[in-house]
Amino acid sequence: MPELPEVETMRRGVRPLVGGTIIEAFCPPSHHHPIKYRPPPETLFPALVGRSIRAVERCGKRLLLRLDNDHALVIEPRMTGRVSLNPPQLPSHTRLVLRVRMTQPRGNRKGAPVEHTMIFRDVRGLGAVHLLDANSCRTELGPQNIGPDALDISWQELRDRLRHRKCAIKVALLDQRAIAGVGNIYASEALHLARIHPTTPCHLISNRRWRTLQQALHLVLEEAIAKQGSTLSDGAYITPSDEAGRYQDEHRVYQRTGERCIQCRRGIIRRIILGQRSTFYCPVCQPAPRGS
Ligand SMILES: [Zn+2]
Repeated sequence: MPELPEVETMRRGVRPLVGGTIIEAFCPPSHHHPIKYRPPPETLFPALVGRSIRAVERCGKRLLLRLDNDHALVIEPRMTGRVSLNPPQLPSHTRLVLRVRMTQPRGNRKGAPVEHTMIFRDVRGLGAVHLLDANSCRTELGPQNIGPDALDISWQELRDRLRHRKCAIKVALLDQRAIAGVGNIYASEALHLARIHPTTPCHLISNRRWRTLQQALHLVLEEAIAKQGSTLSDGAYITPSDEAGRYQDEHRVYQRTGERCIQCRRGIIRRIILGQRSTFYCPVCQPAPRGS
């Protein structure tokens, strides 16, 4: 499932669209169960045509194309959604095609305008595409629904948002209202780097460890962005230029059950289920919290 590093890689990959004008928007005919569009496709697609793209942004695990009428096209990859720029052909499960014409700089009279094609593909079809006006953007993507970005949050803010909770820290980190962008992979990875057991109740975490955790999150997410995210064995995520990410090779604990821990070289990585999600940790680096 794309998390912050994967969606950030998507954002960077489709940055060439900025400044271009959408000349066509459609979903190719298919027998697959449709994803969620809001408004419905017959309204959504025509509303995009003629709009120019002012900026490409990321909001937690969502990708945003900011349009010149203060609307935003919001793409939510959820489980298996991904974007590609200029694919050689339209793959199956293509849910949105945007043809974008780029304006040539003045004085450059050579050739026809350059065009890009961006597609959104989603095999399982749990993703969504929304066109939001400025008001809906402020409410739906505002602080009451989406917490501070995991790359920007300070350790004090992280602590203040979670320290009164009695739930496990691993579960709390996945709450997008508290902190945006962290999902199952990077929560396990950051907790391992910070040497905090995933079941540790938030209210038992000391100041020093909140600080360590924030630094670990930052480090893990930045490293993952530098490697263009994690492509797992299901191959669901690939970059907009159709390459695999490379951070999966750097995973310290995620899907490494039974392997020796690379940090302490003593512990054997374990898998447990927390909040119905697989969670990985090293019992030596991450001793169980007292009283559990
Ligand atoms: Zn270890």
